[in-house]
Amino acid sequence: MTLSDNKSEHEKHVLTKKSRDELRPQDVIQMLQDGNQRFVDNKLIDWDYRHEQEDTSGAQYPAAIVLGCIDSRVPAEILFNLRIGDIFNARVAGNIIDEDIAGSMEYACKVAGSKIILVMGHTNCGAVKGAIDQVEMGNLSQLLEKIKPSIDTVRDVDGGRTTKNSAFVKAVAKMNVTLTIENIRDISPLLKEMEDNNEINIVGAMYDVETGMVEFHD
Ligand SMILES: [Zn+2]
Repeated sequence: MTLSDNKSEHEKHVLTKKSRDELRPQDVIQMLQDGNQRFVDNKLIDWDYRHEQEDTSGAQYPAAIVLGCIDSRVPAEILFNLRIGDIFNARVAGNIIDEDIAGSMEYACKVAGSKIILVMGHTNCGAVKGAIDQVEMGNLSQLLEKIKPSIDTVRDVDGGRTTKNSAFVKAVAKMNVTLTIENIRDISPLLKEMEDNNEINIVGAMYDVETGMVEFHD
């Protein structure tokens, strides 16, 4: 039996307005966690991308928007084993928020009906390391400035506050996810209201580039 034979009826089809609207925010998180577990276990469903491409050509009903880093090792669709049309994927170095990405999230949730905003940092992040090392270069300087509050906020990490200490780099990346979520609520009263009304959840996670696992924050 192939993995394709294991697909449930639901999984054979791309998300429709009906199937997406039936998902609660916690169901969407479960969908992402299940997909990452398949990725970690190397039991990927071999989706039929061309079929999905045809089925989504007229409309899309994504269940979430993921804000992740541009890092080549952090492709959300792959590490959550998702289909075409399942998520919006916003990527910027260091997964920081600005008005344009907030606007993209507002579109994803208010207009297109997504239920989850997932801010996903990752271990060994070059942008986080660049912020710690105070790198200055072109437009990158102002981007890294957005990560720097997380450096100051991290306390009580053994082994030194440098990029040589992977535990410190990870702690800063995790704090950057937390502060990015707070910034999303500050920048976007629209999204905060949707969250307060339980129409969406805004959640954080860390991806471990060594294990392939996504750990959702409490
Ligand atoms: Zn990164």
